[in-house]
Amino acid sequence: LKGDSESLPQQDKEIDKALRPLSFSDFTGQGKIVENLKIFVGAAKAREEALDHVLLHGPPGLGKTTLSHIIANELGSTLKISSGPVLDKPSDLAGLLTNLQPFDVLFIDEIHRLNPIVEEYLYSAMEDYKIDIMLDSGPNARSIQIGLNPFTLIGATTRAGLLTSPLRARFGINARLEYYDAQLLSSIVKRSANILNMPIDETGAFEIARRSRGTPRIANNLLRRTRDFAQIKGTGNIDMEIAKFALEALDVDMNGLDEMDNRILLTIIEKFKGGPVGLTTIATACGEEAETIEEVYEPFLIQEGFLKRTSRGREATEKAYRHVGLEPRSQMGT
Ligand code: ADP
Repeated sequence: LKGDSESLPQQDKEIDKALRPLSFSDFTGQGKIVENLKIFVGAAKAREEALDHVLLHGPPGLGKTTLSHIIANELGSTLKISSGPVLDKPSDLAGLLTNLQPFDVLFIDEIHRLNPIVEEYLYSAMEDYKIDIMLDSGPNARSIQIGLNPFTLIGATTRAGLLTSPLRARFGINARLEYYDAQLLSSIVKRSANILNMPIDETGAFEIARRSRGTPRIANNLLRRTRDFAQIKGTGNIDMEIAKFALEALDVDMNGLDEMDNRILLTIIEKFKGGPVGLTTIATACGEEAETIEEVYEPFLIQEGFLKRTSRGREATEKAYRHVGLEPRSQMGT
């Protein structure tokens, strides 16, 4: 998926790590979620119990992984990281679970992509801190039950709708992360610039912030790229002018939509008369995976009012027509 930190070069990975907030007080935004988590973490610690299992959902880059690190830090425990597609066999999961120390936090990213057989093993682990392990196969097959240390599972997903109901029901805490407004992103940009020793002024930070698709990961990426432009084309300071110059060069438009956002809107408008048109048709026409469009692009386009989701497919709104420089079709009488 776009902006996935796994795909970053080594140097960017290190910067990513340096920018990651380590405590609740360092984490900007998502106020309600953070306030609640603070209480749940505090209460679990006071009772000397494992924190209830936590499901974090929302588009990529909004801070699910970051919050998981913070929860583990604030609990004073260790975070073990895995992901749905990596846990291929029940034995992969059993290996992880049996190695957990009391009150450890296990983070499973993309939990909606767990193999259903593995997922079933997770149920008893989450519920009773127990797993049944099969020994041998064929006529000698038998299973033994193994007790686990109390632990907290944090599941992260971009697609909560794809979670099975038995799995969803086993999370005591369920939080949906929202896109950040420009003000919040601006303080994240300033914090990051400060950590990376980049001179930036208020207007430069705000310009980057308001064009970052509501996403801290994108804001941090644009900040880094803008720094390059500031060094080569400017004085080294990031101000409004250099931010505008850089964002234009990076194909981020005035509304913060990037090249793929614009391609999706143009495709719906020009090839499909504004829709309604099905997701897979759009995906084929844009040369992008349907899943990526649904998880990464569409939620923001919908939130910003460029796209509508109807039972018959996706439709471009009047705002989308104006955005690509065309008259809305209702006014064209079609
Ligand atoms: P997700 O797991 O939801 O895809 P991440 O937790 O990996 O997102 O966040 C992406 C990047 O954005 C992280 O490197 C982190 O530095 C930054 N980030 C996310 N949320 C915040 C926040 N609330 N405040 C500051 N930085 C943030």
